[in-house]
Amino acid sequence: MQTLQVDLGERSYPIHIGERLIDRAELFSDRIRGRQVAVVTNETVAPLYLDRLTQTLSDYSVTPVILPDGEEHKNWQTLQLIFDALLGARHDRNTTVIALGGGVIGDMAGYAASSYQRGVDFIQVPTTLLSQVDSSVGGKTGINHPLGKNMIGAFYQPRAVIIDTATLKTLPPRELSAGLAEVIKYGLICDEPFLGWLEANVDRLRALDPVVLTEAIHRSCAAKAKVVNADERESGVRAILNLGHTFGHAIETHMGYGVWLHGEAVSAGTVMALEMSCQLGWITRMERDRAIKLLQRAALPVVPPAQMKPQDFLEHMAVDKKVLDGRLRLVLLRRMGEAVVTGDFPRDVLETTLSASYG
Ligand code: NAD
Ligand code: MG
Repeated sequence: MQTLQVDLGERSYPIHIGERLIDRAELFSDRIRGRQVAVVTNETVAPLYLDRLTQTLSDYSVTPVILPDGEEHKNWQTLQLIFDALLGARHDRNTTVIALGGGVIGDMAGYAASSYQRGVDFIQVPTTLLSQVDSSVGGKTGINHPLGKNMIGAFYQPRAVIIDTATLKTLPPRELSAGLAEVIKYGLICDEPFLGWLEANVDRLRALDPVVLTEAIHRSCAAKAKVVNADERESGVRAILNLGHTFGHAIETHMGYGVWLHGEAVSAGTVMALEMSCQLGWITRMERDRAIKLLQRAALPVVPPAQMKPQDFLEHMAVDKKVLDGRLRLVLLRRMGEAVVTGDFPRDVLETTLSASYG
């Protein structure tokens, strides 16, 4: 097991990473104050891991909350089911909400914890690679609104994040690859040596070698925590975490949410950001191709969908939230391992990039 301490003063918390941590009662009891616990999970994850976690929590009074699975259920109606369960079982202000599942469950359970009786303790047990390396770190919680994704929410830090790498054994391979897109992203934006390490270990990662997984998750969480700590409420540098995301969101929106997984769209979008950094002379073609090769070895797409034309990107990107003062700002690589957020590029470079991105 590896442990990373996220340093936020009074709200500091540990991230534990290792195999079969779901069975380690002391990791939970160290961070639980009351006698009541609610485990929020979904219909897919519950049959896999709920019994084991409930057994680990046998010293507590456990209320299971099993929600429907899917991004389309990340809304008020489903959130209400969590409050119904908490109030129905008379949970008081000393209760702890535990999220057992992927990012959808983590975001919803965290938001419920942030507002139940004005805020109760919250523990994350993320079970997808994406949630282990990304959504469980940084304190963003929330739900979708019919008019926008993640538009209702709160910053709310967990008391602990407990990452059991063995849960990835049941994760569909496509979801694993989607998580790897965010892992590779950390190397590109702020940890160049990590890229070399990933090149040496990507096959072992895909084979779910526990030692290699633990190391990759640890380095990813450390990278995210470092960026987030410098900028807890996203006023500036945190935006570098969105490498590939502006292009990626255009793909997700154009294709309809869920057709391309988020990580898949981020992968193709990252290649576009690399291409543009290359066009600007900031990284070499060899460096660009090195990153593309790594994404390919992670079984990720590296070209945008064939039916999407440069004009489609420009239209979707014109409404992106990173457009400030009418100027499109993008996350690009100043060099390998160093990202910048900039609106300072000639528009024709963006257009050349879009045309060049179809391979
Ligand atoms: P997800 O939660 O939908 O999980 C993907 C699928 O895998 C689901 O069907 C889920 O039930 C299933 N699953 C989960 N764990 C499993 C396991 N161990 N074995 C088998 N199946 C399993 O998707 P995700 O990619 O984990 O998270 C995406 C969500 O995270 C989005 O809603 C996004 O907005 C959010 N997110 C939040 C942040 C943040 O900072 N809070 C960051 C990134 C993403
Ligand atoms: Mg992302």
